[in-house]
Amino acid sequence: MSTANILSAIRIGVLGFGGLGQAAAKVLAVKQEMVLVAAADQKGYAYAAEGLNTQECIATYQSQGSVGYLEPVGTLTNQSIEDVIKIAQPVDGYFLALPNLPNDFIPSVAKEFIKSGWRGVLVDAIKRTTAVEQLLAMKEELQAAGITYMTGCGATPGLLTAAAALAAQSYAEIHQVEITFGLGIANWEAYRATVREDIGHIPGYTVETARAMTDAEVEALLDKTNGVLTLKNMEHADDVMLEVAGICDRDRVTVGGVVDTRNPKKPLSTNVKVTGRTFEGKISTHTFTLGDETSMAANVCGPAFGYLKAGRQLHQRGIYGIFTAAEIMPQFVR
Ligand code: NAD
Repeated sequence: MSTANILSAIRIGVLGFGGLGQAAAKVLAVKQEMVLVAAADQKGYAYAAEGLNTQECIATYQSQGSVGYLEPVGTLTNQSIEDVIKIAQPVDGYFLALPNLPNDFIPSVAKEFIKSGWRGVLVDAIKRTTAVEQLLAMKEELQAAGITYMTGCGATPGLLTAAAALAAQSYAEIHQVEITFGLGIANWEAYRATVREDIGHIPGYTVETARAMTDAEVEALLDKTNGVLTLKNMEHADDVMLEVAGICDRDRVTVGGVVDTRNPKKPLSTNVKVTGRTFEGKISTHTFTLGDETSMAANVCGPAFGYLKAGRQLHQRGIYGIFTAAEIMPQFVR
């Protein structure tokens, strides 16, 4: 990126440098309007005002377990989020690519930002209804802090919730929103938090039991199912987001999916079906289907930065607080 572009680009920090965090860095590497200046994982962080080198960050994380080892821009610490927030260097917006384990972890990170006096845009790809509810309850604190927080801005919730909000416009009444996702990943270790959080939706498991499972226990469970998790009636925030946006009651929204942790091919095509009644009394269904070639990482990180850009525009206009992916149109990041 040229110096002129760096000066005008939105300065981005990515918190969490696992599967999604690394994909987010790769997405940003080809953008002109955004530059990755900070990245943090559980053991450290890296900061470079002129932009971090994505390949170096990923190589360091993969070989040594933390971007904190990256010389000379890395710092090792076991309170990387607190430390990154405190660095005096400017960061305009953060993507929280963190596990939401326990279920109030990301809300607690939002509280850290509020306490710190930092002002800017935060975006998450959080999944659970109860987690989004905790964040929505922080609206006034976020407003007072000068933070524009965009929540539920991954794929589901996120892209598919937004598609449902758009599809709803054809109808006078929404009867059902049915989200079905297919996720194929070559190995579960690339997305540990995503898989653990999905296990938390299986009957007999909770967020807490999934969080407490060792890697060996996760592998043993996946061995029993041939690597496939089938999820039904998930507690997914698409419901509360569509309700808050005034589109339909939450009980009309269902989310389920099939996750194959041993094959990058999607086990089914991810889609959202929106059924409603038009003003003429016709019942119909709109279906929006994602291309099978698009990965989870593409469908989460693209929207996350699109919403971050939209959030930045709100922030620049003095509009703070919290917004969901169902309320705001994402902006395309060049
Ligand atoms: P991961 O397990 O691959 O990586 C997590 C990263 O967070 C690691 O780098 C880890 O070091 C870091 N981390 C953990 N605790 C930390 C702490 N206290 N401080 C700093 N860093 C910390 O995770 P993932 O599979 O990439 O998933 C990230 C999140 O994205 C999950 O919460 C998942 O549910 C969410 N997600 C959302 C969608 C969606 O469509 N909305 C889709 C997929 C994943």
